[in-house]
Amino acid sequence: MSEEKSFKYVIIGGGVASGYAAKEFVNQGVNPGELAIVSKESVPPYERPALSKGYINLKNKATLPNFYACGGSGGERQFPQWYQEKGIELILDTEIVNADLASKTLVSNDGQIFKYQTLIVATGSTVVRLSDFGVEGADAKNIFYLREIEDADKLAYAMEVKEKGKAVVVGGGYIGLELSAALSVNNLDVTMVYPEPWCMPRLFTGEIASFYESYYANKGIKIVKGTVAAGFNTNSNGEVTEVKLKDGRTLEADIVIVGVGGKPLTSLFKDQVEEEKGGLKTDGFFKTSVADVYAIGDVATFPMKLYGEMRRVEHVDHARKSAEQAVKAIKAAEEGKTVPEYNYLPYFYSRFFKLSWEFYGDNVGESVLFGDNDPKSPKPKFGTYWVKDGKVVGVFLEGGTPEENKAIAKVARAQPSVESLDVLSKEGLSFATKL
Ligand code: FAD
Repeated sequence: MSEEKSFKYVIIGGGVASGYAAKEFVNQGVNPGELAIVSKESVPPYERPALSKGYINLKNKATLPNFYACGGSGGERQFPQWYQEKGIELILDTEIVNADLASKTLVSNDGQIFKYQTLIVATGSTVVRLSDFGVEGADAKNIFYLREIEDADKLAYAMEVKEKGKAVVVGGGYIGLELSAALSVNNLDVTMVYPEPWCMPRLFTGEIASFYESYYANKGIKIVKGTVAAGFNTNSNGEVTEVKLKDGRTLEADIVIVGVGGKPLTSLFKDQVEEEKGGLKTDGFFKTSVADVYAIGDVATFPMKLYGEMRRVEHVDHARKSAEQAVKAIKAAEEGKTVPEYNYLPYFYSRFFKLSWEFYGDNVGESVLFGDNDPKSPKPKFGTYWVKDGKVVGVFLEGGTPEENKAIAKVARAQPSVESLDVLSKEGLSFATKL
């Protein structure tokens, strides 16, 4: 007979949103035995962004106890004992393979049955694989993806074994940029490949990207643009030796890292929960179309009140805040109360080498660059404003202090009017700091 357990609240997934939801349940008050977290991973919720930063910095490695949730936002680190003390059941190494929302029943890969009164879906995203596009040889050894800690462990091991070897990074998004920096710091000879005219094209303007590309070139990282990986050659052990590019060139490779995007893990709920823009559709309280089922983090498509449209956001800040909002809404509803609707200001960040940038708001409309964007400057500090319909709607800043970053966030939220782009170009950062 399969084991059956019942909980008032079950969270599927043990990532960022899950860890922050647990924190908020504790803040709001949860009785021992009421809450269970079921996670495929073998460790408690941690701050996932650390995987492409400190965790694979082999010379100065951040180890796991140091980046358990919720340390990344200045909160208490939730060690395994924390869950135990709070009476939260942490069910690790357990994948939910079937969810029957009508009978409020979940079934795991090892046959356990979980019943719930309220379900929070926090399954996050998975990586897009080159094998999904039928790229020849994409299953060769030493081709890596990075999503979970096990992936990072395999990559870190290969980086040690192949020290001073050649690494090819496929993809020019933030994973590609962060991992290229990490590989270079760990003494590998790095080449990045991406089809777009510049890196991080979904966020960066050509001017912003040009700074980072030059900075990377100065660090010895080679960049090949305008083509994609079309296949891989291997040796007799099945290890990758070469990346074949679509334009006919080949690149030698001891390690390949692929960062070409993610896709939300929604398949458990297909035909049960309404979807939009690839995610589970929610309201401003993260309630889905099914009663007592909430979705948070990467998997939720929610109303972005500030811009009057439904959006899905794959970033850690939203994972944390959506978790808090959902739990507050669940607890308020139990007392017949409501909480204000989610009113999120998009916030993304990244760190590599000695650089660190933050972005708030929306990157739409016209843009204007300000500040010192010389890649050879000892401390470059520059940014970009985006202006739409005469209002500043988005701000990017490299090298900002915490106060300056707070100031740009305030601007993106307030959306002040501005006479012209020239004003912003002349005033630069002081336009934000004086607000
Ligand atoms: P996740 O943190 O991915 O957690 C999902 C959890 O659900 C995982 O534990 C998974 O194993 C589990 N799961 C999935 N399906 C099941 C199932 N069926 N049964 C049981 N468990 C299941 N964002 C930024 O803003 N800045 C950054 O610098 C940044 N860096 C990143 C670096 C890396 C390497 C990665 C992968 C992401 C990064 N992100 C960054 C994005 C950010 O980490 C995610 O947006 C965030 O983790 C989303 O939280 P989540 O809880 O929705 O999903």
